[in-house]
Parts: sequence; structure tokens; C-alpha cells
Amino acid sequence: MPSSLPTLDFFSVTAVVALNMLAMSAALPLAMGRRISGAARHAQHFFLLQSLAWLLILAASRMPAGLAMRSILPTAAALCAALAQWQMARALADWLGPRPPWMLRSLALCCVAAPLGFMLLLPWVALRTGWFSAGHGLCLLLLAGLCLRPRRPVARSWRHLMCGVAVFMGLVLLVRSYLALATPWLPSFTGDGGANQVFALLTTLSSSLLMVAVLVAWRDETNQQLREMALQDMLTGLPNRRALLERAPAMLAHAQRHGQPLALVMLDLDHFKRVNDEHGHVTGDRTLSLFASLLQQHLRGDEIAARWGGEEFCLLLYTTDEGVEALCARLQTSVLHASAQALGFEVRFSAGCAHTPRVWTGLCLEMMLPPADTALYASKRRGRDCWTLVRLSQPMARMAAAA
Ligand code: GH3
Ligand code: MG
Ligand code: MG
Repeated sequence: MPSSLPTLDFFSVTAVVALNMLAMSAALPLAMGRRISGAARHAQHFFLLQSLAWLLILAASRMPAGLAMRSILPTAAALCAALAQWQMARALADWLGPRPPWMLRSLALCCVAAPLGFMLLLPWVALRTGWFSAGHGLCLLLLAGLCLRPRRPVARSWRHLMCGVAVFMGLVLLVRSYLALATPWLPSFTGDGGANQVFALLTTLSSSLLMVAVLVAWRDETNQQLREMALQDMLTGLPNRRALLERAPAMLAHAQRHGQPLALVMLDLDHFKRVNDEHGHVTGDRTLSLFASLLQQHLRGDEIAARWGGEEFCLLLYTTDEGVEALCARLQTSVLHASAQALGFEVRFSAGCAHTPRVWTGLCLEMMLPPADTALYASKRRGRDCWTLVRLSQPMARMAAAA
């Protein structure tokens, strides 16, 4: 057994970090498959640039004093490190949705100021180390902020891990900056002093945790894509039946809370089989897509248009019977006009609507569907190209649900 622990040198520990990051950036696209997402690509660039930064610093530390490269390499390293932070910010924006502009602007400022100041302070080792560590530390704290408040449904686990690592390393770098500027304990960036060794160890630890966070983020992104695919109709891009059933309870609760009216409209294209028979299946598909896009154009952002199946569509709207009448009339005109223009023939539809001026406790989509379907059937029987409205009442909805 050795009598004492072996001493760690800054060079070896940092070289391991750099090589790990390099391996990670090479392995990411291999592990993720060829269709790597934009966010994963940015994360890959982060690891590549960060490892390059460390390799340049290590190379500079082994250059003989006085060589021009000794000043070019650290500057290039500072630039790579700043670019790496920016790549991670872009990955976060892709994963989490638009990030607060002030945070991105501040990060961009730090990413420019840190290497620029480093370059200008090149002859003064303590000053440049202090300046760059402070700038880099602020970048990391801003990156931690960017992990918060996602605008998409994203898992908490990896965001919190990444945020924690960024806060920790950001604070470590601010301490490092203080040590370089105000104490004699950090005379150089790469020396074997105690402060540098602790810093190198913490960097190893945090880079491993960061790799874990990136891998989990990527898995989360893939899960989310699968979930979105399961809720979206492939042909029209509209939410499908399952999505409508999932989103309806929240819309009903919202309408009840705010005393808003609610209407479920079922629409069915008239004689659609003839479209397929006379113009072919491809034109049939184009007709469905056109109809879907017109539906979406006529809806408010908080309402939902879904493809129920085949040539049947559903709308869930915060509107009264008069609102539904007006919408159907507008839709009728625009479908006739758009189909004649885009397809060369006129498309018509029939609709059935179940509406209520107020939502009561216990009302659910399943209670609204049968009356809306019956109303649609009535429109078809009346000769098509028209709509029928029924007002929901509590006993009728209960009976419909029981049937
Ligand atoms: P009605 O006015 O009574 O609704 O008559 P219809 O012909 O529209 O209704 P029917 O139920 O007889 O036929 C619906 C047709 O819709 C049959 C089916 O082949 C077609 N269809 C269903 N889904 C798709 C699709 O995704 N693409 C295409 N092109 N056709 C589809
Ligand atoms: Mg039809
Ligand atoms: Mg039908």
C-alpha cells in the first residue's frame, strides 16, 4: 500500500477532461443515430469546442516561453470556451423553447467580453486569469438561468442537474477569479498549485454530470417527439382523436371556471367517396389537408380542431350557438372558394353541433359527442351542405353518456 495519496497534476487531470469531452462529441452522433436533432448538434459542438479549449490551454502550457504561439493558443482557447457556452445556450433554446431575450443578450455580451478582455490583458497573467474566470463564471450562471422556465413540456430531472452543475461551476469560477486577482494562490492558469488542482477535479466531476444531463435531455426530446407523433394526425397535421380527448377536460374546466359557453362541432365532408373515385386518392388526401388548414385558420389559438377519423373533423370552441352559426357560414364560403381554386372542384360539408351556454360540474366530452353526432346525421338527412345545432341540457347529456 502506498504511504500517501499520489499527487495530481493539473496537466493530466485536465487532459483527461479534454479527451473525455472530445470522445463525447464524437460518440454523440454515433449513439443518437444519423438524424441527430438541432439541439443535440449544438450540445455536440459544445463538447467539441470545450475540449478544444482545454487542449489549446494544455498545449500553450508546454510551449517554451517567448514563443508567439504561447499567446495565440490561450487566446484561441478563450474564444473556443466562449463559443462553447453559446452553443449550449442554443441547445437549451431548442430543447426548452424561446429563452428570455435579456438573458441571451447578456450571455452574448459575456461571451464576447471574456475572450476580448483576455486578449487585451494577455501580458498580465493574474489579471487575464481573473478576468476570464469571472466572465466565464457569469456565462455559466446565465446558462443556469436559461435552464429554468421551459416553454415546452420538458422533464425536470436533466434541467435541474444541468442548472445545478452550471451554478456550481459558475460560483467556482468566480472564486477562482477572486483568487487570481486578490491572492497569491493562483499565479497561473495551468500551474500545479492547490487551487488549480481543486479546480481541475471539480471540472472533471462537472463535465461528467453535464454529459449525463445532455444524454437525458436527448432522451427526453425523443420521448417528446414520439408523444407528439402519437397525438398528431400524419396527413393533416391536426391533433388527432386521442389529442382531442386528452385536451378536452382542460378546456371544459376552463369554460366552467370563466363562465364561458362551449360548443362541440362535428364536420363531415359531403360525398367524399366521390372525390376519391373521380379524382383519385392523392387528390382526396389534398382535399383533407386543405379542409384541415381552413379549419385552423378560422379558429382562435385556445380552441381546438381535430381530425376525428376519415373525412370527419371535430371542433371544440368557446362560443355560443350564434358563434357556431357564423363560423359554419364563414367556413362554408371559404371551403367552396378555396377548393374551387386549389383543386378545381367544389367541396362541401355538413355539420352537427352540441352547445351549452354554461358548463356544469360533471359535463365531459363523452356526453357532448353523441348529440353532436346525431345533429350531424340530421344535417346529412336534410340533404347535406348544412348544419344542425342542439342545445345540451343536463338530463339529455346524462342520457347520451349512458347510451
Ligand atoms: P357522406 O356525404 O354521406 O358523408 O358520404 P361520403 O362519401 O363522404 O362518406 P363515406 O363514409 O361513404 O365515405 C368516406 C370516404 O372517405 C371513404 C374513404 O375511402 C375516404 N377516406 C377516409 N379516410 C381517407 C384518407 O385519409 N384519404 C382519402 N383520400 N380518403 C379517405
Ligand atoms: Mg362524408
Ligand atoms: Mg363520414
